[in-house]
Amino acid sequence: MYEVPALTYSFDALQPHIDSTTMQIHHDKHHAAYVSKLNAALEGHEGLQSKSVEALLRDIDSVPEAIRGAVRNHGGGHANHSLFWSVMGPGGGGAPSGDLASAINAAFGSFENFQERFSGAAAGQFGSGWGWLVATESGLEVIARPNQDSPLMEGKTPLLGVDVWEHAYYLHYQNRRPEYLKAWWNTVQWDTVAERLKQG
Ligand code: MN
Repeated sequence: MYEVPALTYSFDALQPHIDSTTMQIHHDKHHAAYVSKLNAALEGHEGLQSKSVEALLRDIDSVPEAIRGAVRNHGGGHANHSLFWSVMGPGGGGAPSGDLASAINAAFGSFENFQERFSGAAAGQFGSGWGWLVATESGLEVIARPNQDSPLMEGKTPLLGVDVWEHAYYLHYQNRRPEYLKAWWNTVQWDTVAERLKQG
């Protein structure tokens, strides 16, 4: 059985950037629904249940066709949100350092260029989806993907992701997705992102 990971900070810890009610509903209702639907889809598939959700997504083609769509959507939702909570936190923001800063500079020229590309991709995602910084064999990339599609399904390793489904920002920002994105940068925990790069 997959489980929603507990937040390591309180629901109000990301204010004023992300409001407490949004965090509570997002974590306790939206993420919980992905997990319970993933568990329901995998009922009776003991071999698959023993894999991590990341391993399920990396090898999505080996999931039986009858439940592949459910694993893609709900497994993707579980993996994406688990990453999302972990790369945010109180006292976040600023800029990365060390190897991560070097990799970002190599791929995008500068941190400012990277931020612009990332925010642009996330703001421009039509409808629901995510903006991502991913590691590939040839370096770092910024991509946007619809729904709960995980970069893991394409062999890319997600390092940083921002949820641009309306449920992530609508209570406080309504239709102002770019304003949410601008505030969201202040929550990013660069040490966690750097650790993800190190682990590959
Ligand atoms: Mn979400």
